[in-house]
Amino acid sequence: MKKIVCIVLTIFLFLSIALAEPVTQQPYELVVDGESRIGKYTGNMENGIPDGYGLFVTTNPNGYSWHYIGNWKAGLMHGEGSTYWEDGSLEIGEYDEGHFVFGYCYYDGADLELYSTLSTDRSLTDSESALVEPTEPTEPTVQYIGNKNSHVFHKLDCGSVKIMKDKNKVNFYSREEAIDMHYKPCGECNP
Ligand SMILES: [Zn+2]
Repeated sequence: MKKIVCIVLTIFLFLSIALAEPVTQQPYELVVDGESRIGKYTGNMENGIPDGYGLFVTTNPNGYSWHYIGNWKAGLMHGEGSTYWEDGSLEIGEYDEGHFVFGYCYYDGADLELYSTLSTDRSLTDSESALVEPTEPTEPTVQYIGNKNSHVFHKLDCGSVKIMKDKNKVNFYSREEAIDMHYKPCGECNP
């Protein structure tokens, strides 16, 4: 999942590089609230500072590396973007003048959670949702029950199902599945 996120963002980065004339691996000092991080910036610039779309790679004084990829304004992370730390922690969402203000975050093995410092609610944009929404398939639910002996299938609430022995029951997840298996619809419940 995280690899896919990185790949998608890398593709976006290269698209943006092709469309603009950004710098590559340029030394940059990011300063947020007086805290400074020296790193390398790749992306769009305006007046010599990051502005537009770009990637910033840096290391904290304790040796912990992280990178931000996303939108920039006047030298700060601003707009949609994502930060990734070397332990897999991440923040995906919206930044405001260098601060993560809204989106999904995941820290040090904890669950992915929604984070917001915004006073007004807003929902995730489509691109944010695409990055964080789990894509696990939903479990199919049993729609009909067939009887192995009679080869008749029923709605779940049919009286025949209630008295059917468990060993004779067969689950169907769609009407088509039952028909394909040569089961006939019950005349009582008309499945
Ligand atoms: Zn029935």
